[in-house]
Amino acid sequence: MMQTEPEDLAALPLTQLRACPHCDALYRLPTVRPRERAVCQRCGLVLMAPRARAFTRIVALSACALILLAVALFTPFLDLSAAGLHSDASIWDAAMAFSDGIMVPLSIAVAAFIIVIPALRLALIVYTVFPLIGGGAPAPHAARAFRIADDLRPWSMAEIFVIGVAVALVKIAGMASVTPGIAFWTFGVLVIVLIWQESFVDREQIWSALDAARPDRGQAPA
Ligand SMILES: [Zn+2]
Repeated sequence: MMQTEPEDLAALPLTQLRACPHCDALYRLPTVRPRERAVCQRCGLVLMAPRARAFTRIVALSACALILLAVALFTPFLDLSAAGLHSDASIWDAAMAFSDGIMVPLSIAVAAFIIVIPALRLALIVYTVFPLIGGGAPAPHAARAFRIADDLRPWSMAEIFVIGVAVALVKIAGMASVTPGIAFWTFGVLVIVLIWQESFVDREQIWSALDAARPDRGQAPA
């Protein structure tokens, strides 16, 4: 990434400047083509890494993940058999298993972390990015929607749920016969799709596209 002298940077409008989120080094916004990367000279953080047709892929993979999440929600997740007893549970059942008495907050938290927040993030990303495909104008309040999606990222825990289930399965396997259901495999694919989708999300590229269509460009992204 090109670093200009501080006196040059001071004369530039804010939309032309980008600070490294890790070390605050200030740069003039470079032109980075697909397959190129802009790296912070001071700390080495990747600042920009646009990918070709990223917006189309983000929308397609987000929509795919939303469908997988919906399927995983209401199909059997695990099927347990022990001593002649038989039980199956969906992810929804798992979240609602604590919906009695003092455990209600836990039930709400489980539902939020593994269902509501991942679904909300995906919907907000589709809302933000879909109108930008082909250089279109952003949807109303797209900048706010994208910021909320970004803020929710640490709270979207579908992947962690899968790891938790894997650990629990190892423990249960000795006591009962466990058969993974449709939702188990759907959720596994969902985690891969989420990681794949995330690899196309270049915040800089999305903010630039949102900025480019703003009537009051020349100010910092709001
Ligand atoms: Zn840096």
